[in-house]
Amino acid sequence: MRKIKYKTPEELKILTDKNRAETHALIKKLKKKKPKELDDFIHELHIDAFSEFSCLDCANCCKTIGPRLTDKDIDRLAKHLKMKPSEFLEQYVKTDEDNDFVFREHPCPFLLPDNYCMVYENRPKACREYPHTDRKHFYQILTLSFKNCETCPVVYEIFEEMKTKKW
Ligand code: SF4
Ligand code: SF4
Repeated sequence: MRKIKYKTPEELKILTDKNRAETHALIKKLKKKKPKELDDFIHELHIDAFSEFSCLDCANCCKTIGPRLTDKDIDRLAKHLKMKPSEFLEQYVKTDEDNDFVFREHPCPFLLPDNYCMVYENRPKACREYPHTDRKHFYQILTLSFKNCETCPVVYEIFEEMKTKKW
């Protein structure tokens, strides 16, 4: 895989748009074929990418999209901040158009200026799992992951690498 370089969400959007038709065609093919080797291929790229690229040099996800919050996340974060869950909800949380709990603001209120997460040990489940490129049955989240190409430079490069293989 090409060396991962930091790209802004604006740069990623332009690159993703440029390759959109080609990527759609690949996704369609992979969803139909569900190749057995897809997970191993993606997981290896995920390990390679994150062993050489640090999220501390990026934080695009924390700056622009933010996680969906579960009740457990809210309880854990409130405890971490020594607040009541109701106070935490009032100060930091709103509901989005799908009625999910999300942070009121972007960048995330817990993102520090050096891109460290202030609540790292107790961060939301969705933050732990992002960008999902180590997930099993990756063919099921191809469309969702394609959206993440506009945010995450690692996901963008993984999709580009997927195109170099004959499926
Ligand atoms: S809680 Fe931490 S990891 Fe999650 S979006 Fe905020 S800064 Fe990023
Ligand atoms: S998961 Fe992706 S978007 Fe988020 S900080 Fe790491 S490289 Fe950047």
